[in-house]
Parts: sequence; structure tokens; C-alpha cells
Amino acid sequence: MPGSAPGPAGGWDRLRRRARVYPPEPPGRAGVCPVCRGPAAPGYPRCYQCARHEQLGPGLLADAVVPISYAVKGTAFAGDLWRYKAVREPSGAARASLLALLLAFLHDHGACVWRQAGMTAPGLLAVVPTGCGRPGPHPLLELAAPYLRLRPAPLVIRPGRQGRDPDETRFYTERGRLDADILLLEDSWVSGASAQSAAAALKRAGARRVAVIVLGRHLDPADRLGAPLAARLAPGPYDPGRCAVHGAPA
Ligand SMILES: [Zn+2]
Ligand SMILES: [Zn+2]
Repeated sequence: MPGSAPGPAGGWDRLRRRARVYPPEPPGRAGVCPVCRGPAAPGYPRCYQCARHEQLGPGLLADAVVPISYAVKGTAFAGDLWRYKAVREPSGAARASLLALLLAFLHDHGACVWRQAGMTAPGLLAVVPTGCGRPGPHPLLELAAPYLRLRPAPLVIRPGRQGRDPDETRFYTERGRLDADILLLEDSWVSGASAQSAAAALKRAGARRVAVIVLGRHLDPADRLGAPLAARLAPGPYDPGRCAVHGAPA
């Protein structure tokens, strides 16, 4: 990936083997939202939540949303997405495994994501803030920033603006006018309202293109629409040939 640090000690294969994921459905599959890869009701072009995000306006939404894996409720991978940032005792194993997955994915598929978002490569790095507005840098920014040669553009939540609805004024950046293409990282995509609100905040601050990479797209196998999708998925080692932009290799 342009802008990324040289390969890690031990090599990319070691990183790839470390991750165990639920690869996202390819684009264009019936019943799968083409924006977030979550379940969409029969006959609808997008999932209910992504359709709602359009109230933010087409110019403010993320230019690409690319989940690396599904986070199936109750699985170890979904647990890691919480454990890595636990306030009391963040799990070192979860941090190492998620970082390995992210770095391997950026190395193998960064170019797919930039192309999908209409950019050559990002110039800035941002992370979707956590809903609780905890102080200090976001754990994902802390984890990833040393490995990516991208200047950070941290997002801050406006006091009193926590919520579940898409809101272009929920976050702001203290960096001033951005005028750059941006990689926006999200650990867990549930409704996507936070990530799209963050993308909107970056665009309002002058960001040109925003590419969102999601570690885990939440999926609840007990959910009526999520159940058939969850039933099709099988966990496996991270597959370097496959991503949510182009599905499996031909
Ligand atoms: Zn969606
Ligand atoms: Zn790819």
C-alpha cells in the first residue's frame, strides 16, 4: 500500500495466518447491502440503516465502505473487537490480532479500497470516535498510526451529541481545513451512523474523498434478516485473494 510502513518482522504471511475472520459477501449478492454488506430486506436496494444515512446528503457520505470481516455476535472475533479497547484491561492478544488483520488487509487490498473511493491513496488517517466519548486518543488510532505513514486527523465528539442517528455535526476535527483524501477506520459497524457522521464531519472540514475500512461488520444470527446471511458464513483464516470490493479471485 502506498504510504504504509515496510513489512512487519516475520513477514506478511505470519500476519495473515494470525487472523481468523468471516469474509464479507461479494458485492451484488441478493439480500446483501451494497454499502455495508449487512443484510437488506428482500426487494430493497440497501439495508434500512444505509438508506437512512442518505438524509445526510450524497456529498457528505463516505465514498467507499469496505468491511474486512463480519463480526458475528457471540464469536471470538466479535469479542476481540471489544476486548482490544476494554477500558480496564485491554487485551494484548486482541490488539495484536486486530492489528495483524488490518495491516495485512491494507497491504493486500488498500489499492482496491482507494480505487473504489475514487482516490489515488489517502493522505490523512482518522478513526470513528467511540460512542462514549472517552478521553485520550482512540485505541485504534494508537494501534495503527505507528505503522501507517499517514498524518492523523483526530475526530472529536461535540458534547451532548451522542446519539444513534446520522448527524453531520456530531464530530469535528481540530486540524482545520483538511483538503486531503482520508482513510477513516472503524472497529465495529453496527448501524453505521457513527461512521457516516464521521465521514460527513470530515467532508464538512474539506476532505475530498473518504474511504472507510471496517474491521468487523456486526451481524446478529438471531436477527430475522441476519440469520440467513450468518448461516452462509464460515470462519477461516484471512484470505489475501478476497475482499469486499471484488469478492473472491476469478
Ligand atoms: Zn447497509
Ligand atoms: Zn481487494
